[in-house]
Amino acid sequence: RPDWIITAGCLKYDDQKDELGRGNFAVVIKGYIERRDKPPLQVAVKKLPEERIDDERTERENACNALFKEAHLMNKFHHPNVITFYGVCCDLPPVMVVTELCAGGSLESHLVKTGDAISNGERLLFITEAARGMNYLQRKNCIHRDLASRNCLIAANGVVKISDFGLSKMVEATAKITDDTVPKNLPLRWMAPETINRQPKFSSKSDVWGFCVMIYEVFNNGIKPWNSDDDYRKIGHAIRNGKMPEPPKRTPAEMLDLMKSCWQMDPEKRPNFCDILKEVREMSKKNPKLAYP
Ligand code: ATP
Repeated sequence: RPDWIITAGCLKYDDQKDELGRGNFAVVIKGYIERRDKPPLQVAVKKLPEERIDDERTERENACNALFKEAHLMNKFHHPNVITFYGVCCDLPPVMVVTELCAGGSLESHLVKTGDAISNGERLLFITEAARGMNYLQRKNCIHRDLASRNCLIAANGVVKISDFGLSKMVEATAKITDDTVPKNLPLRWMAPETINRQPKFSSKSDVWGFCVMIYEVFNNGIKPWNSDDDYRKIGHAIRNGKMPEPPKRTPAEMLDLMKSCWQMDPEKRPNFCDILKEVREMSKKNPKLAYP
């Protein structure tokens, strides 16, 4: 039995009191794992809401498969800027994925809550830490596919961690992926042009596109690009035609250049995460105003 199988008896949580948040298909609760000879370990427990399980069997199977995939993938990753995976609990439905608890919640909610009080230096630090995590995932041939500030978490020590590999898939040897398992709730605003069609081509370079939409969010206090009343078709059409929304005013010039290079239509021309990490590190070295804090 893999050591990442957690038995239900060891996992304690109170879903009435300790909900951390809800995504499109899962609910996340604060809990802890009881361990022999060691103090209990605080964790985040991601589980499927049971009402949906009873109603829709296929939906449940799909969601369980997605969670198992996520669990299997996350077990392979060990990096300070990637969420730590502790295990999966599948004794009884619902299946639960257990990870490190990030007391700071999502980067998105931090940006929205703290707003203008965040210095550009701090924003650059968030971006650098996320780039470090993504550079690691790229080296592991992992395509995230749903990179956005809502999928980056902040640990108790303030470090940003890449999370939510629900849409990830290891790169095939050919690195060419066509996939018809894209969910109904498309994260269109973060999607690269080559992924918005019937045969989407996801790659680390489409993650690079999403990463720059996340940079946009970071400099826009967590507000996502495009007007909220723009409909999906309009946004999809604009992205496929190489249009991007005006970057937020506080975005530093060097960062704008980086965003432009990442939003090139041809994925091959975009930098990879190693290049991005070098660039953002240079930015903080060259420009003391951007240096943290
Ligand atoms: P989706 O999974 O549909 O992309 P999402 O990323 O918002 O959406 P989840 O990953 O299910 O959804 O997380 C929902 C919320 O729960 C997050 O926005 C965050 O506030 C909270 N959360 C998730 N994981 C953790 C964690 N490890 N530590 C602390 N809070 C978490």
